[in-house]
Amino acid sequence: MVYDYIIVGAGMGGISAGINLAINNKKVLILEKNSLPGGLVSTFKKGRFEFDTSGYDIYNYGDKEHIGELQKILSKYKVNIETDIVPFNYIVKEEKKDTFKVKGSFEEFIVDLEDIKFGSAMQATTLAKITKEIRWAMDIILKGDIPKEEDYPRFYKYLDYMASDALLEIGFSKEVIKRLSIWWLDVGSPLNKLSFIDFCLFLEKLIFKKNAIFDTKNLDFCLKLIKRYQKVGGKINYNSWVVNIDMEDNIKLVETKDGHSYKAKHVICDVSRRLVFKDLIKKEIKDVNRLENARTIGANGVVIYLGLNKNYQDLGLEYYKYYKFTTLDSTNNIKYMNSLGHNTWIAYVPNVVNNNASPKNTTILVLKQIYFSDVFNNVAINEYEKLKNDIADSLISDFEETYKIDIREYIEEIAISTPFTVERLTSNVNGTMYGYMLKGYDNAIHRILSYEDEEIEGLSFVGASSIFGSGIDNAIISGFYITNKLLGRK
Ligand SMILES: Cc1cc2nc3c(=O)[nH]c(=O)nc-3n(C[C@H](O)[C@H](O)[C@H](O)COP(=O)(O)OP(=O)(O)OC[C@H]3O[C@@H](n4cnc5c(N)ncnc54)[C@H](O)[C@@H]3O)c2cc1C
Repeated sequence: MVYDYIIVGAGMGGISAGINLAINNKKVLILEKNSLPGGLVSTFKKGRFEFDTSGYDIYNYGDKEHIGELQKILSKYKVNIETDIVPFNYIVKEEKKDTFKVKGSFEEFIVDLEDIKFGSAMQATTLAKITKEIRWAMDIILKGDIPKEEDYPRFYKYLDYMASDALLEIGFSKEVIKRLSIWWLDVGSPLNKLSFIDFCLFLEKLIFKKNAIFDTKNLDFCLKLIKRYQKVGGKINYNSWVVNIDMEDNIKLVETKDGHSYKAKHVICDVSRRLVFKDLIKKEIKDVNRLENARTIGANGVVIYLGLNKNYQDLGLEYYKYYKFTTLDSTNNIKYMNSLGHNTWIAYVPNVVNNNASPKNTTILVLKQIYFSDVFNNVAINEYEKLKNDIADSLISDFEETYKIDIREYIEEIAISTPFTVERLTSNVNGTMYGYMLKGYDNAIHRILSYEDEEIEGLSFVGASSIFGSGIDNAIISGFYITNKLLGRK
């Protein structure tokens, strides 16, 4: 049998691509190397706790009044999910400075900015307008058209600006820019490397679409997507590790580790181009190195999942997110984040926003620290276990000291994920959590505009390493957008 499409990987991008193609009556087969779908979006059980690996912020979904792209696509797919809108609920600590809170809405955040520097509220209003204009321009580009310069002057003005330069030009003070940069860890690029376009596209989701969380565990969400995919005729084979893609003929041959081979007219990969060209396609493809070397593999990191045997109120936890930065100046901060043992991290306490996050009278706390180099690659096998335990130990201590909250004595379960864990789970290069880093001119707009030039006959890419960057929303949207292009739709 010859499939219309074979999809390598059942991550968010791959499943989304599969649903859209199957809905449109294409014969689709997803080959997934693991025994479960979801890739980075998963749930694992330890003792009486069920830990979600991802999905602590669902961007671009919104609610009935704020309809995000993700919501539109899932409703086209007829996948109904329950989400709750989560207002900002963070506490932030910069070393040697007082903590500050970010609570409520973006409007409340703006009021705080005005307290730091008179005039910031007006500049923030300008920023919000620019983010809207950039979003509208982006929507036109996504439809394959070019926005008119006279209608979108600020989009063109800021097209090649880095976020840090644009924010200064809008008039924000350095202190206010620091506040605006707290989200840079979510995007995975410091403000001097992140294009203003990507910064605004992220900000637009925060301001106008609102953050949400799923009412279900990650894995249930993934299984729901797969159920829908199968209902519309899609086929998925688990434990099917693709080791070779033969691109020689019009009909592509896809081979798996267990000796099976499958045929398709077109192959879609939910993994990075770097992995595909290095490991899966043996034939040399023209210009691939040049294109790939212009891209940067995103940050990797360590995530510590803690199951605590006391409820969050009694532990003294009250925020959804606890941030700690060596410095809030992201340009400087990234210098520390090339090596292990730095002091920048985020802690999430899902129970604060979700009653069902863990069993009664318990709390889940997830500590995440990221690195901008492949620091783990040089770790000797016999040092690995000790190193990951030492990192967990020092992050737990730093959390306790920074926020004066005892958690160590309540730890009932602990699981530590390193870049190796992510690499084993997804085969992501360097165990990155962020796909290709959104960096400078390698931004979403340039990626869309150069997409067709970079395409290879019979081969496409979806997911965090394709167009829009990392994130559940971006991966799902990429699957929808790329397959619409393949289907000849706008
Ligand atoms: C700790 C953590 C927290 C996060 N938190 C959030 C968050 O709060 N909000 C948010 O929006 N995003 C978050 N993200 C990011 C988000 O989860 C990812 O960007 C997104 O899930 C990536 O989806 P993807 O389609 O690129 O595929 P991936 O998740 O990378 O999946 C790729 C799939 O391909 C399979 N595969 C790989 N190689 C092969 C092969 N050779 N043959 C067959 N199958 C193969 C893998 O097994 C995997 O299932 C987080 C990520 C991490 C790691």
